[in-house]
Amino acid sequence: MIADEIIRITSELPVGCRLVAVSKYHPVEALREAYGVGQRIFGESHVQELQMKHGELPQDIEWHFIGHLQTNKVKYIAPYVSLIHAVDSGRLLREIDKQAAKVGRRISCLLQLHVAEEESKFGFAPDECMDYLAAGEWSKLQHVQIAGMMCMATNTDDEARIRRDFALARATFVDAQQRFFSSDSAFCELSMGMSHDYRIAIEEGATLVRIGSTIFGNRVY
Ligand SMILES: *Cc1c(COP(=O)(O)O)cnc(C)c1O
Repeated sequence: MIADEIIRITSELPVGCRLVAVSKYHPVEALREAYGVGQRIFGESHVQELQMKHGELPQDIEWHFIGHLQTNKVKYIAPYVSLIHAVDSGRLLREIDKQAAKVGRRISCLLQLHVAEEESKFGFAPDECMDYLAAGEWSKLQHVQIAGMMCMATNTDDEARIRRDFALARATFVDAQQRFFSSDSAFCELSMGMSHDYRIAIEEGATLVRIGSTIFGNRVY
């Protein structure tokens, strides 16, 4: 079942778009099943749970942290995390830089854009994000690589609204790429789309889709 879903979704993805299997709240056996059919990128959103799974599962897994990350927890995942999706402040980026320096790494990060209607979500408004990049402080950080942007669309059945949110994220990403990263090919990822809206996200240019419940079912703990 898990294996079938991984194979089905992966076969649907266009070239240049990769699947992040969002395995939060699911036991390591479920991840092993996905691993068994070749899945190597897993997304988690709780530090303690990620620590445990990282310890138990094969070392060639690319672990992505997709949730809201508290600055005081960065140090636990800095030694091995492959990509941090939801960087929503300069303060968090500085802390990731500091912890990456301590372990001799350069950690790839995505800036989280707030494009959804809901007020409570984290992230930079598109204008704020461009202002943050224009200020330039980030470019002095040697141990982080800003590798692109991520967003969540409005939680709605209104496809037009979802499409508008993703299109705004894509436009912001392209604008930033042209203005600040034109000589940096590592700025290349646009993480958007979850179980209910990933097909729209792909049409709007996602390079990473984060899919959980479609693969693993509803959460077990
Ligand atoms: C849980 C989560 C997902 C996956 O959501 P599903 O609806 O289960 O596919 C994607 N992105 C983020 C940031 C999440 O927290």
